[in-house]
Amino acid sequence: MVGLNRLPPRIESRKLQFLHKIITLPAGSVSRNIFIRKLILFINDQSLVSLGYIPDICQLLLKYNLQGITNNLLLPEPCIPSKRQWKTLVKNAIDNNESGLWNQRMSTDSDFTFFCILHPCTCIAPSIIYRVCNRSSVRSIMCTIVRLWTRPVSLENELCAHCNTIYQEQLVHAVCECPATSTVRSRFFEHLSNILLPDEKHSLLELDSVALTLRPLGTPLELILDIDNEVPLLKNSFSYIVSCIQVYTN
Ligand SMILES: [Zn+2]
Repeated sequence: MVGLNRLPPRIESRKLQFLHKIITLPAGSVSRNIFIRKLILFINDQSLVSLGYIPDICQLLLKYNLQGITNNLLLPEPCIPSKRQWKTLVKNAIDNNESGLWNQRMSTDSDFTFFCILHPCTCIAPSIIYRVCNRSSVRSIMCTIVRLWTRPVSLENELCAHCNTIYQEQLVHAVCECPATSTVRSRFFEHLSNILLPDEKHSLLELDSVALTLRPLGTPLELILDIDNEVPLLKNSFSYIVSCIQVYTN
C-alpha cells in the first residue's frame, strides 16, 4: 500500500552501497587490498572463500546483474561509477526486480483480483489510499478501506437481511443499492456539490452500481480528476463507504 520495497532488498541495497565504499578507498588501503585479494581468490576457486561478505556480495551482483563493477576492478585502470551513479544503478536494479516479483504475485494470487482493479500499476507504487489518508487523524477509515481493497470478490447469490433483495456483491449492494443506507447515500450525493463541478457530479452519478462503488474506493475510472481534486473527493467518499458499512452491518 505504501509503495515500499520489502525489507530484504533494502538490506541488500545497503550491502551494495558498502561495496562501493570499499572499492573507492585509496589504492593503498589495507581494507581495499584485502577485499580485492579475497575477491580474486573467490573468482578463481569459490571453495577458498565460502563464507562472509565476498560470496554474499558476489551473489547479489549476479542477482541484480551488476557484476560490471567488480569486473572493472580487476582491470589495470578500473572505471568505477561515482557514488551517485552506483546508487541509481542499484536502485533501478532492485526496483525492477521487486516490481517483477510483485507483478508475478498480483497476477497469480486470486486474493489480489480486486486489489488489481483498484490499483492497476505495473510497478510498486503507493496506493491512492496511502496518499489520501497519509497524516490523517482518521486511521480507522484507512484500515477499513485497506481491508475492502484486499477482500476476496464474492459472486454468490445472497439475500439481504435489510431489504430481502438478492445481491451478488455485498459491498456494491450496501454502498449503492440497499434502502438501509439510503440516508447516508443521499447525504453524500448532496455533499458532492461542494467538491465537484455540476458536470463532474453528473458524470459520477451516471455510473452503474458497480462503478459507483469502485470509483469512491479509488479505482481510476471516469471521472478522472487531478490529484488536488481527487484527494478531497476520496477523503469524503472513503467516509461515505465506511458509514454505509457501519449502517449496513449494525
Ligand atoms: Zn438490502
